[in-house]
Amino acid sequence: MRAIRRFTVRTVLPEPLKPLDELASNLRWSWHRPTLELFASLSPARWEAARRDPVAMLGSFSPEELQNLAADRDFVARLEQAAADLHGYLSEPRWYQSLDAELAAESRAPAPRSIAYFSPEFGITAVLPQYSGGLGILAGDHLKSASDLGVPIVGVGLLYQRGYFEQSLTRDGWQHEDYPVLDPHELPISLVREADGTPAEVSVTLAGGRPLVAHLWKAQVGRVPLLLLDSDHEANDEAFRAVTDRLYGGTPEHRLHQEMLLGIGGVRALRLWSRLTGAPAPEVYHTNEGHAGFLGLERISELVGTGLSFDEALETVRAATVFTTHTPVPAGIDRFARELIMSHFGPESGLAGLSVERVLALGAETYPGGDAAVFNMAVMGLRLAQRANGVSQLHGVVSREMFDGLWPGFDPPEVPITSITNGVHAPTWVDHRMIELAEQHIGPQIRSEARAWEEIGKIPADQLWATRRQMRADLVTESRQRMRASWLRRGASNAELHWIDDILDPDVLTIGFARRVPTYKRLTLMLRDPERLKRLLLHPERPIQLVIAGKSHPADETGKRLIQQMVRFADDAGVRHRIVFLPNYDIAMAQSLYPGCDVWLNNPLRPFEACGTSGMKSALNGGLNLSVLDGWWDEWFDGENGWAIPTADGVEDPDYRDDLEAAGLYDLLENEVAPRFYERDAEGLPQRWLSMVRHTFASLGPKVLASRMVADYVRQLYLPAADAGRATTPEVARDLAAFKARVRTSWPGVRVEHVDSSGLSDSPQVGDQLSVRAVAFLDGLDPDDVQVQVVHGRVSPEDLITDFVVQDLQYAGPADNDPADGKHVFEGHLTLRRTGPFGYTVRVLPRHEGLAAPAELGLVTNA
Ligand SMILES: *Cc1c(COP(=O)(O)O)cnc(C)c1O
Repeated sequence: MRAIRRFTVRTVLPEPLKPLDELASNLRWSWHRPTLELFASLSPARWEAARRDPVAMLGSFSPEELQNLAADRDFVARLEQAAADLHGYLSEPRWYQSLDAELAAESRAPAPRSIAYFSPEFGITAVLPQYSGGLGILAGDHLKSASDLGVPIVGVGLLYQRGYFEQSLTRDGWQHEDYPVLDPHELPISLVREADGTPAEVSVTLAGGRPLVAHLWKAQVGRVPLLLLDSDHEANDEAFRAVTDRLYGGTPEHRLHQEMLLGIGGVRALRLWSRLTGAPAPEVYHTNEGHAGFLGLERISELVGTGLSFDEALETVRAATVFTTHTPVPAGIDRFARELIMSHFGPESGLAGLSVERVLALGAETYPGGDAAVFNMAVMGLRLAQRANGVSQLHGVVSREMFDGLWPGFDPPEVPITSITNGVHAPTWVDHRMIELAEQHIGPQIRSEARAWEEIGKIPADQLWATRRQMRADLVTESRQRMRASWLRRGASNAELHWIDDILDPDVLTIGFARRVPTYKRLTLMLRDPERLKRLLLHPERPIQLVIAGKSHPADETGKRLIQQMVRFADDAGVRHRIVFLPNYDIAMAQSLYPGCDVWLNNPLRPFEACGTSGMKSALNGGLNLSVLDGWWDEWFDGENGWAIPTADGVEDPDYRDDLEAAGLYDLLENEVAPRFYERDAEGLPQRWLSMVRHTFASLGPKVLASRMVADYVRQLYLPAADAGRATTPEVARDLAAFKARVRTSWPGVRVEHVDSSGLSDSPQVGDQLSVRAVAFLDGLDPDDVQVQVVHGRVSPEDLITDFVVQDLQYAGPADNDPADGKHVFEGHLTLRRTGPFGYTVRVLPRHEGLAAPAELGLVTNA
């Protein structure tokens, strides 16, 4: 029988058990071992049956059982202690609270009181499946670490009624997707309500002036609230209710609706949140990838409502906005047809002060090779944010090249996109046995001080190895369970599955590979030479075993074919005891996969991996990375903390390139990785392997932490953005907007008239000084409006200045003693500091204290 209506009857906890509600509804339990253990201790069997979901488990208790538990003095005491610990965590001063004193000592303004963090997905725990991959996991780790550091972030996202899909396999290895409906009342979130108890709501206007109404839910992530908009609201028709049906599904229009709700609705949700709770309004807005970019339009519209012009509002918004780009793959960037934007941002949009022309201009690809018919969300993100970053150093370089066209006249190194390398939240990702072992030998600071990882040498080799083996053995057990479940779903019967109890071996070198399956990640590179892979798997003395997982985007047939190819290889009776594909990669699987693998394999097509974080999680568990030098690995591989798979950069033929790189991978496995793992001393310990493990902990431990990442965001982006935001008063915004308009109008006439230099002999040597005098024609601009610079450095045989240094020249007065003719003199000296070919040039750029980077306006005139 099918129910015609459903609702959830909530558990009423007896008074002494009330703290359970609080512990279950604050997601801190997902990374706080003692709280997890408290829940598990209620009933280990039900804990597992509820898929380690505290809310679901509590719902399984009958009123009688709860009464019995309430009478259990011992349990109630432990519960009270856990609640007290949570209260302490939520209220005590942490890192961020000490920042103001430090800033005051430098005569700087206090840190922002609130920072909004927008993301289309958040991966916090497996029981809140609102993520598809790295972007969401990163957002989750960002919030968790912000909570640990006391950073006052508010997360903003969407609540997808079906989340991302659950993956299973058909008999012949094809990916099958299920989208179970999530009942928000059974999730660890709560409905945001008005003071009178009615559900609070947010609405945005879509094409044709139609309102889209959304509920607002709140997930509490430690100290950080995460607001989630949900279009499943009675006021909407079926189609609008389905706007937040699933992550990254549907048509472009569907995605546009999602992104309008996230960006525009998200800002409205923040206002609502402030009104209901008295929370301060955010001073900085951070958008994790371009999907939430419309938040800038809503904020411009708010400001226009207070009397600013569009241009003034734009300056105000830019000052306090941070944009993080995450993909060097053009297909990974959201682009909409211009018509779609036109139909949604016309006069009925309800966004006061925004004309559709201005909106379109923000997302226009106005650079060589750009497509005039599209609206590009990343481009809009860059135009709406004064500060932008990529997610590893290499990705910073790649992004500066990729978006170079938006700052014409500047070489990529000057493109104002910086980088902050991603990190991972250790309490979520480090196996509790590893952290407890470290704590025992190093001390409790291992949990809070990044540098403590450097003392990893204090852990005796035999104990380190024993712990690594336990984690590997657990993964073997879990893989067997997952494989059995998978084969049952694929139509096998238990009677045929006796072999599954013997797959994988807790003492064999275990290599993991798990990630989403876009083409550039090359899931099947290891299958380039299947016979060679078989020999590695079946080596009589030094076998390897592979644990593989990954979901393909449902619309990506190529990705599904790669999975099928992998599954078919792994199904072969000759190798199936050494290679498994585990369906439904998610946070729950990831948490046992990383600790259980000795080696974490990553072989993307360089440089398409923006950062990658799974290898960091492996490293924090004592796994060794075997990876292409891409993303974070390009930055932190030091020759001894793992292995670099050689890349054939520049080889045009993709097949040949794959052949070369696959051969490099096999060679490393055969000649370096496996021999080192199996080389044992008299006690049976692989000493040389363990010294690499230790070196991995010591060299990477402090760097890969999300606490390092969040602190970097605070210092490098949030503090400057907050300062700029506060400095941009309406008067300053007006001045800056007028300055930009003036400079843009005059710029075509600005030129360097001539440059004289003096002071050098015929054979200049290091230490000599060169005097430079430049005359610039400013076409009506004031000398204060510009910066004249000398750019000098090594020159290539083609006279290109590489590795340059920039030095400002000083204003020395009007040329010809006639201020009216627009010609001005700028002078300075530079000292030759390097031998070899040297060259210089002079350039003029706009100057204003409201600019964050010299290239910001994309205007420059070179001599
Ligand atoms: C860490 C993680 C990712 C991201 O890993 P990458 O190395 O960036 O591909 C994806 N999915 C899950 C479940 C993760 O835990």
